[in-house]
Amino acid sequence: MSLISAIVPCYNEQEAIPFFYEAIVKTAGEMKETWKDLEFEFLFIDDGSKDGTLKEIEALRQKDKRVRFVSFSRNFGKEAALYAGLSNARGDYAVTMDADMQDPPSLLPDMYRAVKEEGYDSAATRRVTRKGEPVIRSFFARRFYRLINRMSSADIVDGARDYRIMTRRMIDAIVNMREYNRFTKGIYGWIGFNTKWIEFENVERIAGETKWSFWKLFGYAMEGIIGFSTAPLSMATWFGLFMGVVSFLGIIFIIVKKLVFGDPTGGWSSMVCIILLVAGIQLFCIGVMGQYLAKTYLETKQRPIYIARRTSEDEDI
Ligand code: UDP
Ligand code: MG
Repeated sequence: MSLISAIVPCYNEQEAIPFFYEAIVKTAGEMKETWKDLEFEFLFIDDGSKDGTLKEIEALRQKDKRVRFVSFSRNFGKEAALYAGLSNARGDYAVTMDADMQDPPSLLPDMYRAVKEEGYDSAATRRVTRKGEPVIRSFFARRFYRLINRMSSADIVDGARDYRIMTRRMIDAIVNMREYNRFTKGIYGWIGFNTKWIEFENVERIAGETKWSFWKLFGYAMEGIIGFSTAPLSMATWFGLFMGVVSFLGIIFIIVKKLVFGDPTGGWSSMVCIILLVAGIQLFCIGVMGQYLAKTYLETKQRPIYIARRTSEDEDI
């Protein structure tokens, strides 16, 4: 028998969950026709939802014991939810997918075939269009992927979704990366393994609304850059070198000018501008260092990545 754990992070998804459950059960049924010994568990992670999400999940659990859940004590974010899912999964394979049907369950048979029969460790999806998404959001998302791939050695694919199936080996590798500041897209790139990419057209969410504001996404992007690149740290060195060379040339210019023309050096306003410029660059560089320091500070506390308030196994004890 092989077991697939479907991991579903949910934050205020009470409208979407019934649709999702229906769709995944249908897909699971179809897949069982092809692979007779295939079983599923549906592991919902309630990320501190404030609506009836947990109630919905519990109702499903009542009628279907394949449904399991972990409910957080507060909202810890999607990254924490994914981690909780992977560390609680019992399957030989795990697939992480959104509750809003933007990760179409219909792709699952192809993804499973890749890991089961084609010898891949993982099959991941990427959307080739961003149709239906706000233009500004797409624009910044594209810039972000270009930037991070220039700066980081972890290979982060543009348009990649967190919709991915993986083998037990890979699950364990991810669970072993216990960093507090998590950026799963970078972690996948960093751990390696061979991945098959499956492409699809963007699908709009079925119900409810997106949980990601522009600033939440911005914070997520910063997490990615700081977590997977130290290039910003060496920036200060290059800035410093550049400013040094420029000012050295400036000094020579002024001395020569004085010796040849004997002009008094005037203009305190240009001096003020230069001082402000240099001070600005210095503050910026210290700020960048501060960002890394702050992350290091949080890492050293070794806080848990999530705290569970209840799980589906509580009732069984
Ligand atoms: N999500 C979560 N915790 C959060 C934010 C989102 O578990 O703090 C879940 C959400 O319920 C959904 C998935 O992450 O299943 C993706 O979120 P969403 O669809 O809002 O993001 P988008 O698809 O708009 O990028
Ligand atoms: Mg979505």
